[in-house]
Amino acid sequence: MFIDLHNHSLYSYDSNRNMEDIVLEAIEKRVDILGFSDHLDFNEGDPGNEYYNGCHQLKEFDSLKNKYSSKITLHLGIEASLEKSYEEKILNVFDKFPFSYKIMSAHFVKGTVISDWIKEIEKDADNIDDADYSPYFASLKSISQFKAFDILGHIDYYKKYSKFLRHDIIFEKHKKDYTEILKRIIGEGKTIEINSSGLRHKCREQFPSDSILALYKELGGRTVSTGSDSHSRGDVAFHFNEVYNIIENFDFKVYKPNKEKKCFP
Ligand SMILES: [Zn+2]
Ligand SMILES: [Zn+2]
Repeated sequence: MFIDLHNHSLYSYDSNRNMEDIVLEAIEKRVDILGFSDHLDFNEGDPGNEYYNGCHQLKEFDSLKNKYSSKITLHLGIEASLEKSYEEKILNVFDKFPFSYKIMSAHFVKGTVISDWIKEIEKDADNIDDADYSPYFASLKSISQFKAFDILGHIDYYKKYSKFLRHDIIFEKHKKDYTEILKRIIGEGKTIEINSSGLRHKCREQFPSDSILALYKELGGRTVSTGSDSHSRGDVAFHFNEVYNIIENFDFKVYKPNKEKKCFP
């Protein structure tokens, strides 16, 4: 039984998959619970800024939920980027639509999209120790302080864009930051996700790494959410056998959205 709560449809600026294709792929791949988590972004100048159209998506979601109810359980979630400057806008959308769960992710650091930010900090670095990742952790901390979400997304996401591979060095250097963030998540009854998309990228490792998962467990973390971060055909439940093996090894429980909300209350 697989649960994939991290999927992007054409309601995200960076995916052009229609929702029904995603549902059909999920059924093929023995996914029992599938969630849509399209991007909610308000970063000015970014292509994702105010792109999300919840009204249209809800209508489509409702009809798919009914059509496939005997084959798969569908949830409507959201993946929000967050910076202090647009916290209000995020809360407004959260109030307006009945999302079953909310993923919060660090996609920007000090207003710059993370891919560009990493390039900038690593541009003159000959090894991973020369680059300063602290601002990323400041962003992640600020996100973890936000109250209204359920899942902290892909927490070591810098691995996706880094030209270096020894990310264990970053973990050791920022263990205190990770500890603070994970303690807060656990203390507030939230969860982190294991996001398999890292296995499609150069780092060839899920987000987050085993070391971070071990720390999470040590601090009392018991539950993880599972997501493939799919944007294209073939991505749904990507390498989930591997992800579920990790979960079994750590003896984690898999997060299930518990709010079976109606779309139009
Ligand atoms: Zn993301
Ligand atoms: Zn995503």
